Amino acid sequence: MAIQWFPGHMHLTQKAIAERIKDIDVVIELLDARLPGSSANPMLAELTGHKPGLKVLNKQDLADPACTALWLAHYNARPDTRAIGLDASQTTPARQLIDACHALAPSRGGMAKPMRVLICGIPNVGKSTLINTLTGSRKAKTGDEAGITKLEQRITLADDFYLWDTPGMLWPRIIVAKSGYNLAASGAIGRNAFDEEEVALELLDYLKGHYAGLVEARFKIDPIGALSDEEVLEAIGRKRGALLGKGRVNLQKTAEIVMNEFRSGNIGRITLETPEEFAQWLAAGQLI
Ligand code: GDP
Repeated sequence: MAIQWFPGHMHLTQKAIAERIKDIDVVIELLDARLPGSSANPMLAELTGHKPGLKVLNKQDLADPACTALWLAHYNARPDTRAIGLDASQTTPARQLIDACHALAPSRGGMAKPMRVLICGIPNVGKSTLINTLTGSRKAKTGDEAGITKLEQRITLADDFYLWDTPGMLWPRIIVAKSGYNLAASGAIGRNAFDEEEVALELLDYLKGHYAGLVEARFKIDPIGALSDEEVLEAIGRKRGALLGKGRVNLQKTAEIVMNEFRSGNIGRITLETPEEFAQWLAAGQLI
């Protein structure tokens, strides 16, 4: 069953962004480097399509570096778009951001024409963390659960460089089934909105095809290439002692273990979609 996720108030965010965008020179969209295609909100492109855009692939410390390189090349090939990778361990991402914005809007700068930038991203992508790093303050609240509400705020990064946080919440918009699974696996959508076992099986299916060695090493299980997704989940559950009575595996608990291990990066540096795969999913028309 495909994941459905329709949180409210999107129309308010839409309206607020539409109003703000008039006075914006560059739109920064924060994406999850493990799922750049799925963590983008297509509504944002509709609202800001004519503005130069900076794609920031955040959490690149958790993502597969070879795939991040593919995504950066993919975005950098677009006109009026630049892409950079960042992660929370970087203490001074400001220079990179500022330089990229100036390259995108070279006519802006100086006190008379300050650079005006809007930063957007779906919940949990790391926006508060980045803003905290940029401002050096603890003002923006960070949290592990998707959907902590924040007020619009303007941040001064340099005398002639203003950054606006998105007004309202930019929720993910799931347009293909695979994106729903990847968003759920990453922790971007509320845990009540999906079935953990189903998401873990989809995750293992992808990992089996792309990162089998990492899964085998992390969970110390035999080669998984010939196993079904259910068999892989069971093998992990047995290894981790997630058992019910009579030797049966607690699949629900095992699913949680698999997702937590993925989210924390313990399985390894993993990306759940390449630009090519994402394009194929869209083209296959599994629209929901
Ligand atoms: P927001 O909802 O977009 O504001 O996301 P937060 O800033 O609250 O971050 C969500 C979670 O992701 C927190 O647990 C952060 O510590 C974590 N996080 C943010 N950026 C990074 C990153 O670059 N790398 C890693 N590994 N974790 C990050």
